[in-house]
Amino acid sequence: MSSDAEHGRADRSDDVRDLEGELASTSAGHVGIPVDAICVGCGRIRVKRADPEEMGQHPQVDPTTLDATGLTSFTHVCHPCGSVTWWNPVAVLTGLLDAERDRGE
Ligand SMILES: [Zn+2]
Repeated sequence: MSSDAEHGRADRSDDVRDLEGELASTSAGHVGIPVDAICVGCGRIRVKRADPEEMGQHPQVDPTTLDATGLTSFTHVCHPCGSVTWWNPVAVLTGLLDAERDRGE
């Protein structure tokens, strides 16, 4: 039960990322659970929305109960790669979900 640890901030990297901005960008997708994921093609980490079923989870799963280590890879477009690639989830961004709820989305 450590999925609440991120709170929308990734402190592991050396650069400061705007996770909410990444999530709001069209390249993140419009539906699904926000996750931090790494592209197997180019190795970059980006916020993506993924359907729970794409990650081997029940469609009605509570995102706050998810652990990134239990998620399977999913396909999503990667712009640097210029095509649809596989992404490995590295963190479930439940903090971003909470922020959306706070805004009434
Ligand atoms: Zn890529």
